[in-house]
Amino acid sequence: MISLLGVPLDANSSHLMGPALGPAAIRAALHSGSGNHSSEASVEVVDQLDDLGDVAVANERGSHPDADAITAAIDEQLAAGRQVITLGGDHSITFPILRSFRKLHDDLTVVHIDAHPDLYDDLDGNPLSHASPFARALEAGCMTSLVQLGIRTATPHQREQAARWGVTMLSSRQLDEFDPSTLSGPIYLSVDLDGLDPSVAPGVSHHEPGGLTVREVLDIIDALPGPLVGADVVELNPTRDLVDMTAMVGAKLVKEIAAAMVLRAPIG
Ligand code: MN
Ligand code: MN
Repeated sequence: MISLLGVPLDANSSHLMGPALGPAAIRAALHSGSGNHSSEASVEVVDQLDDLGDVAVANERGSHPDADAITAAIDEQLAAGRQVITLGGDHSITFPILRSFRKLHDDLTVVHIDAHPDLYDDLDGNPLSHASPFARALEAGCMTSLVQLGIRTATPHQREQAARWGVTMLSSRQLDEFDPSTLSGPIYLSVDLDGLDPSVAPGVSHHEPGGLTVREVLDIIDALPGPLVGADVVELNPTRDLVDMTAMVGAKLVKEIAAAMVLRAPIG
């Protein structure tokens, strides 16, 4: 079984609130009567998700107790030997999640799909901002390798951060340079839905045109050499969505991520 957790937290957003409503919207799309429970490879995948509900957070800006609650919730699932998919919430949730994976894996590769590098050393005085999770995770030694895909907003500061930490950063235009065969170790996948083009995923707080197609993201998931030990789908803002289309994209990604977890399950 794969554990599914929601984190209704958006207080670490820099622009708009709304992603706290994301977990409920993705769950509704997952169970919508418009589709079935199979992945594209015919894995009955929704039935293999153990939905444990939402992590109890106060949803306060810069809150270490909220971050600790997220880490503890993931700790519990990893201790039980589970793979975990987490629904955001804004992208700040990924640092406390990775902090938990660090306890189990010292050779984690993180693949990060996003319009933004999320590498700010500091944005608006909030170390736990959704603009900084990968800076915090790198400082904490959470991964041996970080590969970012779809990036199209890197500032000079964020380029410096990427160089400092040896981050592989590929823009949407450079996507064909992504070589999954270079990835090693267990893989964690973090998907910020604004990495997709806003024409297919309008329900996000930060519209950044020039993004990935749904098929490109599915092909990335398919190409991960695995084992895929954990993943998150974050930054769905249902208050910005159109006819639930972004929620449906999020649910589709959850299904295909879960299928990849099942088909390339870790040994032991
Ligand atoms: Mn992000
Ligand atoms: Mn983003």
